Amino acid sequence: MIILKSSSEIAIMRVAGSIVAAVLEELRRVIRPGISLKQLDKKAEELTKNFGAIPAFKGYNGFPAALCASVNDEVVHGIPGNRVLKSGDIVGLDFGAIYQDFYADSAITVPVGDISPEAGKLLKVTEEALYKGIAAAKPGNRLYDISGAIQRHVESNGFSVVRDFVGHGIGRKMHEAPQIPNFVGNDFNPRLKPGMTLAIEPMVNEGSYEVEVDSDNWTVRTNDRKFSAHFEHTIAITDGEPEILTLLNTEILPRKV
Ligand code: MG
Ligand code: MG
Repeated sequence: MIILKSSSEIAIMRVAGSIVAAVLEELRRVIRPGISLKQLDKKAEELTKNFGAIPAFKGYNGFPAALCASVNDEVVHGIPGNRVLKSGDIVGLDFGAIYQDFYADSAITVPVGDISPEAGKLLKVTEEALYKGIAAAKPGNRLYDISGAIQRHVESNGFSVVRDFVGHGIGRKMHEAPQIPNFVGNDFNPRLKPGMTLAIEPMVNEGSYEVEVDSDNWTVRTNDRKFSAHFEHTIAITDGEPEILTLLNTEILPRKV
């Protein structure tokens, strides 16, 4: 069942989203060759707590960190350990926060130092695919209009969309119905309605869409070891244009404590 949110619930999710955006912006600002993933994780957790919010991923199904950090051929769910970033890397930062019992979830993939033109194209196409998916998130459309917009943009640029992991509804839980694949399938394809809040998150591989999970039981990696990128926003469907909830809005950001 898809849980529709009231405008006051969406207002809370907007604050949660702004906190997530503030954290990701700060991480993007400090990323450079020589910084470790552990340092990024620590910073994300501290900042979130300063805003009076809770990091959503820590402890979720036993995940050991606040931040998911996935480098190069890692797709999602990378555990931020002692790895040090170097020039030419791309790092996916996936972050969620809970504020007044509501979740927000967003991801960016950031270049470290100088990256290859191919990696640059992968980041650009993945982010564009996210915005094409968001643009299709309108009442009257169906779920697969979002999926199709993403898939078409990715595949027409010669990349592939991951099949094994998908976007999701979000609200009082991190993962609510519906699942939002980044490809058109033949499952649940509901009409989109105002009040739906969705985490849309293309995961795009340079090569094959096939992925595997490391022996840490978390890190998802491309089978062919080519690069992968990930961008995500939490959005609300309205009567008109979709609203992105995970944008930085300093007016509503809780004061740092
Ligand atoms: Mg996420
Ligand atoms: Mg998500």
